[in-house]
Amino acid sequence: MFRKILIANRGEIALRILRACKELGIDTVAVHSTADADAMHVRLADESVCIGPPPARDSYLNIPSLLAACEITGADAVHPGYGFLAENARFAEILADHKIHFIGPKPEHIRIMGDKIEAKKTAQRLGIPVVPGSDGGVGSDEDAQRIAAEIGFPVLVKAAAGGGGRGMKVALTADDLSQALSTARSEAKAAFGDDAVYLEKYLSTPRHIEVQVLGDGRGAAIHLGERDCSLQRRHQKVWEEAPSPVITAAQRAEIGETVAKAMRDMKYLGVGTVEFLYENGAFYFIEMNTRIQVEHPVTEMVTGIDLINEQIRVAAGEPMTLTQADIVFEGHAIECRVNAEHPTTFRPSPGRITHYHVPGGLGIRVDSNAYQGYSIPPHYDSLVGKLIVHGKTRDECLMRLRRALDEFVVDGIDTTLPLFRTLVRTKDIAEGRYDIHWLEHFLAETVHKAG
Ligand code: ADP
Repeated sequence: MFRKILIANRGEIALRILRACKELGIDTVAVHSTADADAMHVRLADESVCIGPPPARDSYLNIPSLLAACEITGADAVHPGYGFLAENARFAEILADHKIHFIGPKPEHIRIMGDKIEAKKTAQRLGIPVVPGSDGGVGSDEDAQRIAAEIGFPVLVKAAAGGGGRGMKVALTADDLSQALSTARSEAKAAFGDDAVYLEKYLSTPRHIEVQVLGDGRGAAIHLGERDCSLQRRHQKVWEEAPSPVITAAQRAEIGETVAKAMRDMKYLGVGTVEFLYENGAFYFIEMNTRIQVEHPVTEMVTGIDLINEQIRVAAGEPMTLTQADIVFEGHAIECRVNAEHPTTFRPSPGRITHYHVPGGLGIRVDSNAYQGYSIPPHYDSLVGKLIVHGKTRDECLMRLRRALDEFVVDGIDTTLPLFRTLVRTKDIAEGRYDIHWLEHFLAETVHKAG
């Protein structure tokens, strides 16, 4: 097992990783920018190193600074969390060159899944159902027109290097296609330095359902069920739940085994998430994330398994002790991402938290690095924390979530708590009837009514 882990991240996930390390008896090194000197995980870590000024490219993305921090402290492994360098294959290779373990998948798997065309080809080869579309990238506009006619409109133009919903354009008809291609290409070029695009059938009312996996890198792999992350704003997840309100145990077992088998064939190492769109009872692969995800706690709440603990163990080369039969799903869990943003305009609201009180009681979990008097810096994402609630049934979970949201106090800044207090009392949500467009429509309507 590792002796000392350097946590190459910040915010709630840095604290989450630190907690897993403490329980495993592993020493921790926190790294931080000058803006994060007062962060909770920095206070709780065994050692801390300042790695640079506030801009992420000068601190959390600064590989030479991170290497120096490893050398100074003698850390033998790095946990990258999510975001920043978590899906940077080059970073994993550089660490390996310095005999430091990267707590994540093999670099070649990070690379394949980071290229959406390669990822889709690999998924298809491994027997995972994909969205109908072009076989790889599209070249000329004529090729694109021919392929689009075969797939049938509407089609979606997507960037091979895509991420965060950028470089994605819908073409409703053949007339829209060349415009969609050129917009997607230039957006992709600007955002990722790569203008390769491909075509996919545009699904009109899908849900976003993803499968959690864990592999030991030697051919053992299991799934830990699904999460429904259909409630999104601008392709960003807002509310996640496990299990999905629309998936049966038989469907879970089937898609789960399909994905787990693919991971066994790949000899996948660590935790990962295979993301699908789900429409009319069918799953369509869109991408795989080769890291721990923000929404991992809902899976932990329904399985009782500490995913970060398992991730660290397999990265250290320990054989997997869990088998598929050990994964038993109990009850229902929902996560709300509480952001430092205005609840209707979503304007970022960094600043000092003057009063802070978290809800408690049975089935309540708050993953947050915030505390009374803490100042949310303006340089990074606006996540204040995650409220995760577990109940024996979805109805009990919703009831508990309602009262937990009412107990939660974060004063001094705007937060999205009022949005969740409304959502949890909305009929469609209570009945589990929503797709990936539901939240945008709901927000447009409520703002329209209010204005
Ligand atoms: P990114 O990596 O940019 O986040 P994804 O492939 O994960 O891109 O897609 C992000 C979101 O875009 C999905 O969650 C879904 O809302 C929408 N989307 C992606 N592909 C399709 C599709 N073929 N049809 C309809 N919506 C899609």
